[in-house]
Amino acid sequence: MPAIYGTETILNPLQESNLSKKGLCDYVINVASGCLHGCTFCYVPSTPVIRARQPHLKDKGIKNPQMDWGDYLIVRENLPEQLENQLSRKRSWKETPAGQGVVLLCSGTDPYQNHQTAAITRTAVQTLLKHKKRVRILTRSPLWLQDLSLLNHPNVTVGMSLPHLEDNLSRQIEPHAPLPSHRLKALRQGRKAGCRLYVAIAPTHPSMDVDTLTRHLEILLTLEPEVLFWEPINARGSNGKRMVAAGLEFANSVMHHHDWAANFVRQWEAIEIAADRLGCRNRLHIWPDPALKNYVESERLETWWYRPTVEPWSVLHQSDTVPGQSCIEHDSSNQLEEVNVYNNLI
Ligand code: SF4
Repeated sequence: MPAIYGTETILNPLQESNLSKKGLCDYVINVASGCLHGCTFCYVPSTPVIRARQPHLKDKGIKNPQMDWGDYLIVRENLPEQLENQLSRKRSWKETPAGQGVVLLCSGTDPYQNHQTAAITRTAVQTLLKHKKRVRILTRSPLWLQDLSLLNHPNVTVGMSLPHLEDNLSRQIEPHAPLPSHRLKALRQGRKAGCRLYVAIAPTHPSMDVDTLTRHLEILLTLEPEVLFWEPINARGSNGKRMVAAGLEFANSVMHHHDWAANFVRQWEAIEIAADRLGCRNRLHIWPDPALKNYVESERLETWWYRPTVEPWSVLHQSDTVPGQSCIEHDSSNQLEEVNVYNNLI
């Protein structure tokens, strides 16, 4: 089916978020409805963000906003102006210990999936930095490299989802996203340029064990990421059906709640062992799912909820750098000192 493109307007693009639970942010901005990457595991289409907006999306010509995920992109064309209006009016700013007042682009789409969303993202980041806000970019696309002069900023951290480096498997799991090897290359370029980086090792597929996770972590550590977020693949809502429809046999092994939880616990242990082997446990940030509560001691789960990351936001608050004009090198010696950060995301 050919992709459906369209535009929509939005009144208040900056939305408060509870993703501080995962140490990610206190606010989110989504530059579009829909996402052309069409990752089979994506559970955005099962969330109220899409479910509650089905009539609106159907008016745009999308027959089944859940099962047609990946085949439509409705960009929020007036977002930059509305964001400026919203920030100019705003008198208070939410800043939780785990969310750090950070604004995430994006939680329900990829901010750099194509040149159209990239243009909106670029203006949104410029506006946020002008208003001295902290920004977290989360993407699967190397297009962010076009904005290096803007994103190489102490109040910006750029993350890419890189759950594995299996390009062939990736074509089944996330058929239209840039290849993992291309993402790795982009992160290397970002590292070389001096950007603050993080990696979302998410979602890992069930066949990854201690040794494969160790090898993967070993490669990721060469990027010197400030934090490594982790969660395994979930099969819930329409995403389980989409994974099975894509021929992903492993989806059947995590389709039932008990099997999913058992896999979660097994891989959680495995990635911690892998991180211990490589001495990077302090940079590992687990995203435990609340649905694990009958499988994992509550204390262990609560350790991770609303926990700040080791990212050095406190050191880097409020830069006077003009967005897109220059960059201030941050002091990476402080970045791992305070141990004390946020779901599909992308
Ligand atoms: S997981 Fe992220 S990149 Fe993939 S389809 Fe969902 S929103 Fe897009």
